[in-house]
Amino acid sequence: MRWQGRRGSSNIEDRRRSGARMGGGGVRIGGLGLVALVLVGWALGVDVTPLLTGAGGGGGWSQGEAELTEAELTGAELTGADRQIGEFVSVTLADTEEVWAGIFAEAGGSYAPATLVLFKGVTASPCGGASGATGPFYCPSDQKVYLDTAFFDTLERQLGAGGDFAAAYVVAHEVAHHVQDELGILREASRARSSAGEARSNAISVRVELQADCLSGVFAAHAGDRFGSIEPGDIAEAMNAARRIGDDTLQRSAGRVPMPHTFTHGTSQQREAWFRRGYESGDIASCDTFAAQSL
Ligand SMILES: [Zn+2]
Repeated sequence: MRWQGRRGSSNIEDRRRSGARMGGGGVRIGGLGLVALVLVGWALGVDVTPLLTGAGGGGGWSQGEAELTEAELTGAELTGADRQIGEFVSVTLADTEEVWAGIFAEAGGSYAPATLVLFKGVTASPCGGASGATGPFYCPSDQKVYLDTAFFDTLERQLGAGGDFAAAYVVAHEVAHHVQDELGILREASRARSSAGEARSNAISVRVELQADCLSGVFAAHAGDRFGSIEPGDIAEAMNAARRIGDDTLQRSAGRVPMPHTFTHGTSQQREAWFRRGYESGDIASCDTFAAQSL
């Protein structure tokens, strides 16, 4: 992706300098944070939780506590690499803003961009505490994307999805959740989920997530046309990333047998296919996962 020297977004909230030292009593990943997460119940991520927290149900939360302590002790310094990745995210976010503003305007609407929070280690959100272990996510309560850029290393080293456009896809996917929020889709889905059993609720989540993948593909198509920023191999990097974070692949990597009723994001094959669909059509009308007979 061509990004160096290009315009960045002003909608970045960089919390990395303050690191894990939070004002106002800080953040606890367990306890109240967990309660908040359950109440909101709707933080949408790329979800690598099964891999990063192991198979144990509550294990991830206590792991988060341990990370908090360590982060508190070490504090956070911004390295040159941190600054560079911050610029990359900022340019990618600006690209999404321009593309989505254009698409909304064509449909007679206007796009109010999301804020993207960069953090290191751990931070607070109305959807609960965020730590590097939870992976990036979108919180509808404050309309912010939360991203620990260390996730890009995880993506490359642990999940096998390297390349700058794999990272751009992650940003685009989270922004796509904001687009869904702007369109009222998240509210609808949330309402439907609240009265559904667990398996049904997960199935709705899968359609939300695959739609976000499709919208990421739509973004990539428009970015290529508008900015000429897409380089050979970029789309393959995004599709590889989509494949690597499929629920079946993540559960297998965590040493488990994939259980479809627990899927919340879709299989590797589905995630790649919906990204491709959005990319090839460049049209959000092709992303109606809720009307699709089969995913
Ligand atoms: Zn998501």
